[in-house]
Amino acid sequence: MNRAFRFCFVTLSCMLVTLLWGRSAVGQEKIDVLLITGQSSKYHNWQVQSTAFERILKDAGLFEVKTLTPPASGEDMSGFDPVWSDFDAVLLDYEGDDWPDATKKSFEEYMKQGGGLVVVHATNNAFPQWQAFLEMTGLGGWGGRTEEWGPKVRWRDGKTVLDMSSGTAVHPSRHDFPVVSRAPDHPIMKGLPSMWMHANDELYSQLRGPANDLTVLATASAVTSMRNGTGENEPILMTIQYGKGRVFHTTLAHVGPNQTEPVDSLQCVGFITTLQRGTEWAATGTVTQKVPEDFPTAVHTSLRQ
Ligand SMILES: [Zn+2]
Repeated sequence: MNRAFRFCFVTLSCMLVTLLWGRSAVGQEKIDVLLITGQSSKYHNWQVQSTAFERILKDAGLFEVKTLTPPASGEDMSGFDPVWSDFDAVLLDYEGDDWPDATKKSFEEYMKQGGGLVVVHATNNAFPQWQAFLEMTGLGGWGGRTEEWGPKVRWRDGKTVLDMSSGTAVHPSRHDFPVVSRAPDHPIMKGLPSMWMHANDELYSQLRGPANDLTVLATASAVTSMRNGTGENEPILMTIQYGKGRVFHTTLAHVGPNQTEPVDSLQCVGFITTLQRGTEWAATGTVTQKVPEDFPTAVHTSLRQ
């Protein structure tokens, strides 16, 4: 009886170790992404956004996504202290209360040492007083940004131009607009068409910031006859090098406070594909994903149901 019990115990222990080891081995094959959400300004809807971002990343089949919601606005943030090093990349879908200084410092260190960061739409307006965050995001909007915050970034005559002229962030009303690739050899952009129609989104314009070590991947433009159209090629997709860290910054994917899914900008296969590829690149420095067959063309949007 005693021997039988011991046999059972050893067998069960072996099975448990195998199970745990197996799970961890499977986990290691995936890219671990921390999605931080939970607060947005009155102009956006973090619940809809974060649900879609999590689904989009999981659909790629490459990522293990953990969603983290810090304390709500006005609540005690002092215990918010993620273990950044557990993750290959952090997807920030957040515009809200400040983080504790120690948390900011540990995130800066994570990035300097080679971490990955993905910034989507209004997240580039977050933390206007956090200088390192401004460096990581490269460009941002609103909050009274003047020339002192840094240049606007334009694409003129086939190259990136830093523009110190005045002007703060604006965007035309939501509409379909063409996105033009400006870095066809970059891993995120390789294989994508030179132009595609993005669906019904805000075209962030006149963003300003330090713009250090920033690479423009794609631009879009709204004619000046359109309200808030600048006539400039505005950076829409970009990367920023921060220490050894990689940042993928997309200004796309507006979701209004009262919008519910389906949301065109989130369904756009151009957005989905660049978010999946940009997140893989931020995490690993490479992109292994193929361009999907339903990618939009230069004249037609493509929405995935
Ligand atoms: Zn917006």
